[in-house]
Amino acid sequence: MNASLENRALYIHQFSSNNIFKSDTIYRLLVDFRKVCQYQIIEDLDDTRLQDPAAILLFLVTSIDDFEVLKQCKYPDSTIKIVAYFLSAEHFAIVDAKNFRLPLKARGFQFIYPDLSIDRSRLDLIYPSCAKILDTAYFKTTRNKFILDFLSEDIERHTQIDPRAAIAEIIEIGWYLRDMSLNHADSLAGGIAIRFGSGFLTTASKTDKYRIAADCICYVERYLPRSNTVRVVGTKQPSSESALFHKIFLERPNTNTIVHFHHKPITFGQQFDRYRTASYTPYGTELEAQIVVEKLHSTSDFVVAAGHGEFAIGHDFDRVQDTLDRIVNLL
Ligand SMILES: [Zn+2]
Repeated sequence: MNASLENRALYIHQFSSNNIFKSDTIYRLLVDFRKVCQYQIIEDLDDTRLQDPAAILLFLVTSIDDFEVLKQCKYPDSTIKIVAYFLSAEHFAIVDAKNFRLPLKARGFQFIYPDLSIDRSRLDLIYPSCAKILDTAYFKTTRNKFILDFLSEDIERHTQIDPRAAIAEIIEIGWYLRDMSLNHADSLAGGIAIRFGSGFLTTASKTDKYRIAADCICYVERYLPRSNTVRVVGTKQPSSESALFHKIFLERPNTNTIVHFHHKPITFGQQFDRYRTASYTPYGTELEAQIVVEKLHSTSDFVVAAGHGEFAIGHDFDRVQDTLDRIVNLL
């Protein structure tokens, strides 16, 4: 993890709480945070440092009223404003309603979806993990966690293969995600990959999966784990999950299609426990790739990356659809 988060200052404001369990959880989280990145605690929401246009602001919310306070705050549009909330399941349901979050979202605040409490004695409390908060801050600043080596802009010239049929299939998979209402919370999330040439075609980072344009497709020739480098052809950055896609194609020769999306009812639904990895792993990393591929050994064609999203794989798109029909039936 990059400690500097692209050299942006990270400011954290913690709303106070009388609940010892919440305070203690936040304290431990901040200690963990200190091990991996540098930040400054800001006591006063009017502190001028929060007006730094290049800053990352992280608000640790402990009650429903705190959201009302945040609504009154004005910070520059360019700051990254992240809200992590430490609430009971009952209050979490209030925040989960779209209309509740909308006024803050309109002001540019981003929400970290909490994890189930890791403390089994307090199952009614839901907290985000340190890794997930950091991951979100990282995601909003740099997105891709690998080095890009651009080989060329022209996929056909580079591979000597006409990519049009494969690109058309990727666009069709995007429509399928739309028709199935998967990836609904954020259609820019997720990614699609199809084996192609000696590598694979994938959607570019931040591609709207419901409206994929042909120039949003990249060809990933290889991922080199030792130097954490993706060798790519195209004009845009490839999916942040390129390292994982590469590992799946490498280790599963019968897999030609991978569909990744974020659908919260599946990500957090109990009926999908058997498909879920043990705990949240930062997205787009070699570690995540290892864990997801290992989980595929037992589930064969579908994995829920805990606290993150879904990966369906198959010999072709028809097989992936069969799998997802089976999965969606469990909802
Ligand atoms: Zn994802």
